[in-house]
Amino acid sequence: MHETALMKNLLTTIEQVLDSHHVSRVNRVYLSVGQLSNALPEALSFAFEAMTREGRLQGAELIIENRPAVARCESCGEEYRVEKFPLVCPTCRSTSFIIISGEEVYVQSIDCEEKCPDD
Ligand SMILES: [Zn+2]
Repeated sequence: MHETALMKNLLTTIEQVLDSHHVSRVNRVYLSVGQLSNALPEALSFAFEAMTREGRLQGAELIIENRPAVARCESCGEEYRVEKFPLVCPTCRSTSFIIISGEEVYVQSIDCEEKCPDD
């Protein structure tokens, strides 16, 4: 399952961040999920819950923030929201574009509660 592998990678990254900041407990994890990422929020939540039954992330809440996709016109440089395909630039009607955001899934922030006393 795509989301399980994705969440596993994300949790590895989160653990590294927790290690480097000596965090002992996490309240919330804010995840940014792009509109074009093909990741289902429900599946991500499910995977998160299943993988955080113990350890520092036990009981942590996953907050998913959906990010709209944005395209940049290759003809005039206009940046516009991706609503539906095929994409047409609202300024110059060009159909040549690159996607500049909306394909990624990343940890936006982590809300931590306690730090180890030696920090
Ligand atoms: Zn354009």
